[in-house]
Parts: sequence; structure tokens; C-alpha cells
Amino acid sequence: MSAKALIREFEAIVGAENVFSDEADLLTYSYDAAELPSQVPALAVRPQAMEQLGQVSALCNQEGLPLTVRGSGTNLSGGTIPQPDGVVLLTSALNRIREINVPDMYAVVEPGVITAQFFDAALAQGLFYPPDPGSQAVSTLGGNLAENSGGLRGLKYGVTRDYVMGLSFFDTQGNLIKTGSRTVKCATGYNLAGLMVGSEGTLGVFGEIILKLIPPPATAKAMMAMYDRAEGASETVAAIIAERILPATLEFMDNFTIRTVEDYSQVGLPVEAAAMLLIEVDGHPAQVEEEAAKIEKLCQQMGATEVKLATDAAQRDKVWEARRAAIPALARLEPSIVLEDATVPRSQIPAMIKALEEIGQEFKLTIGTFGHAGDGNLHPTIVFDKRDQEQAERVTKAVDTIFERALALCGTLSGEHGLGLRKVEFLKNEVGQASVVWSRRLKAALDPKGILNPGKVIG
Ligand SMILES: Cc1cc2nc3c(=O)[nH]c(=O)nc-3n(C[C@H](O)[C@H](O)[C@H](O)COP(=O)(O)OP(=O)(O)OC[C@H]3O[C@@H](n4cnc5c(N)ncnc54)[C@H](O)[C@@H]3O)c2cc1C
Repeated sequence: MSAKALIREFEAIVGAENVFSDEADLLTYSYDAAELPSQVPALAVRPQAMEQLGQVSALCNQEGLPLTVRGSGTNLSGGTIPQPDGVVLLTSALNRIREINVPDMYAVVEPGVITAQFFDAALAQGLFYPPDPGSQAVSTLGGNLAENSGGLRGLKYGVTRDYVMGLSFFDTQGNLIKTGSRTVKCATGYNLAGLMVGSEGTLGVFGEIILKLIPPPATAKAMMAMYDRAEGASETVAAIIAERILPATLEFMDNFTIRTVEDYSQVGLPVEAAAMLLIEVDGHPAQVEEEAAKIEKLCQQMGATEVKLATDAAQRDKVWEARRAAIPALARLEPSIVLEDATVPRSQIPAMIKALEEIGQEFKLTIGTFGHAGDGNLHPTIVFDKRDQEQAERVTKAVDTIFERALALCGTLSGEHGLGLRKVEFLKNEVGQASVVWSRRLKAALDPKGILNPGKVIG
């Protein structure tokens, strides 16, 4: 089919005003938040109704066109970098919250709903949706599902997967596949949602999503603990978990990140501290008081030079504002950043922090380390200038070494950012070649022409 005829076919599905073929428009969809080469697609289309997702998939399949679904394009692994001859499918117009069911505590949403808007809508009905990626102000729920995103509350409340009760998605033929239900328990059929969550747009296009909601915690208390040795902070993490306390949030920041965030947002962080922990406990008021007191004591026992409790909501917001500023603050230091998310069992956090310091020294690179220490999920962030080829090569070697060290500590390549294009070649190192081959067979069975987000996850 000629290019013009193809555009007419897509226009017939989504309307002429929702098909984009000008290079200037398409540039917007050529990259994401990963520091990887961009790629301008041939076309972008913006469905206005759910069934159009299936019709676009079927047309792409019929014509053998690579199809990359795009939520807000904030992923950090190259997951939405399209093929040059491919189609980008935008979910931004499918942004309705269809139902918030208060008695049964679930919601039904479209894939383009913005995460933070959904959180607010649920809270307005007295319900709580915990997954809170740092990008929540712009990320979509469809993108969150496809990446199995986590956030600051992962330690106590889990990640996106833990809140998916049901899902419908379109296969490459345009068929609507349903899995899960609106019930708390469901043992009907294969757990296809388990397969689809984290599939990074390679197995199907998400339509309607059913999400679990829970009662919000009655109260919360936040605190910051400062250390003159980074080991003191990482050992505190292990001590808190060993005490059988699960804070809602347990975040780590090294000195470089503290200084950079303070310079960026002036929230009053202790720039002299070697490291700090940002901690929040939530739940019943009596339990919160008890756990906060125990944690304060543990911080002191592990050598904290100061522990500051937030005394009101404004101070508490300041603590989390500081943490959420870490990525934008680091990102403005140099033209390029690589933000990794290799993850280790949490008892290995002290060893991983030490390994990251050694890697920074070995490759003469600046690595700011912060992240979800309670989950074993750190974000070592390398700031550099990719135009300096020699420096860029050192960054590549340092990242390879980060993966090696995390795997050697029984960790995993990605805690929450997915593999995308960035980590494909490392997959076999973690799961073995047989698992890669099996995954490719599964993909070939579901997507025989290989049109869905080619090159991602399994190559
Ligand atoms: C500043 C910043 C902070 C971040 N903090 C976190 C964090 O704390 N935790 C975390 O986990 N991540 C974080 N991220 C990464 C990113 O925001 C998440 O991966 C997020 O879930 C991506 O959502 P999105 O809507 O932007 O998806 P996109 O980037 O548009 O897409 C991500 C993947 O999902 C696929 N996809 C999107 N929609 C669909 C659909 N409807 N059907 C099938 N596949 C689909 C895409 O093809 C792609 O593979 C952060 C990123 C930034 C820039």
C-alpha cells in the first residue's frame, strides 16, 4: 500500500486530525527519558475510543508496520523509541476514569489516565492508590502497567502489579482479550495480567484496566536522619527491616545528591552529611508513634548525627519535595545523565553502596546515588557529557559493571524501569539463555510478525 493510502486507512479509523505525519510533529515522539539515540517514526496516531486501539493494531499487523505504544514517554529504558518505518500509538486521548467503586474498592480506568490525577480522584472518594512513581504528575497508568512501575511507597505497599485486578488488551489481530475481574478473588483462567504487566508494549495494547484501591492510612510521620558515614545510613536500613518494621518509605541519598538537590531546591538539606535517610511511617496513630520512636532510636544507634522529625504537614511535604527533586536536580548538572535501577536484596544495600563508590572511582565518573533503599532499589545516576566520546565509553563500562556487581549480589537488572532497549543484551546474564529463548518463542506465538515494540525486552 502506498504511504498516502496508508495514511487514509489510519484516518478512517481515528479521524484525519489524529494522524500525524509531519516530521516536526513526529520529532516529539522520537525519544523518551532514556539517554539513547532518538528515532523519528513514520507516523503517529491518536485513537479517541478504545476499540480504535484494536483497529490500529490490526492494520499495523496487516501491513507489517512496527507499532510502539506511547503513554507520556517518561520511561527511562528506551521503551518508546520507535522504529523509523513504524507507527507510534498515542494513548493521551483515552484518559477517562470510568468508575471508582467505593463499596467494592476498585476503579476502572483507560490507559491514558495520568497517575497523580487518578490518585487524587481516588483520595477524593476516601480511597488510596499507593503506586507513586517519581514521574506520577505526568506518567500514565498504561505506561505504569507496562513497566510495572514502583515508587516511594513500594516497600510497604508494593508496586503497580500488586494493584491490577483485571485488564483487557488488544492482540495484533485486534481481538479484545480479557483477564481478571472486579472481585477480590479470581481463579478463572490463566493469569494473563501477570504476563502483560511489565511486558513493555511487546505483547499487546492495554485497554480498560481494573485497579485495586485500599483505605488510606489514618496518619503518617516523616523524618530525616543524617550521617557522617554512608555506611551508617545503609546499616540503619538493614536494622529497621531486621526490627520487623516496614516503613511506608525508606529512601537514601548520598552526599553528592544531597548537595545537588539543595543547590536546586533550597529546602534546607544538610550539605555536610555523608548520607541521609528519608523515612515515613504510616498507619494507626498509636502504631505510627511507636514505630517512629523505634526508628529514631535505631538511627541513633547506627551513628546518625541528627534525626529531624517533621512536625507538621508542611515540613513533611518538604521532605518528599527534596526526594522528588533528585532526578531534575542531577539532570541539570551536565548535558547527559544515565539513571540506573539495578536492585539487590535489601540486606545487600551496604555492599551495593560500597560497590557504587568503587565503580565511580575506577571509571573516574561522578555517580550520585539515591533511591528506594528499603526495597534494595538504588538509582546510581551518572552525570556526564555524551559528546565526549572517551567519557561516554567509560560510562558504558561503568554501567556494565553496575549490572555485574548487582547480579553478583543476587540482585536484578531492573527494580522498576524495565529493560526497554537499554538492558536487552544483559537479560541472559540474569535469567539464562534458555529463558530468553523461551520468552522469544512466547513472543513469536503472540506476535508472529514481530510488530509490537520490536527490539525491546528480549531483543
Ligand atoms: C523524573 C522521572 C522519575 C521517575 N520515577 C520513577 C519511579 O519512581 N518509579 C518508576 O517505576 N519509574 C519512574 N520513572 C520512569 C517512568 O516514569 C515510568 O516507567 C512510567 O511508568 C512510564 O509511564 P509513561 O506513561 O511515561 O509510559 P511511556 O514511557 O510512554 O511507556 C513506557 C512503556 O509502556 C508501554 N506502554 C505505554 N502505554 C501502553 C499501553 N496502553 N499498552 C501497552 N504498552 C504500553 C510503552 O510502549 C513503553 O514500552 C521516572 C521517570 C522520570 C523521567
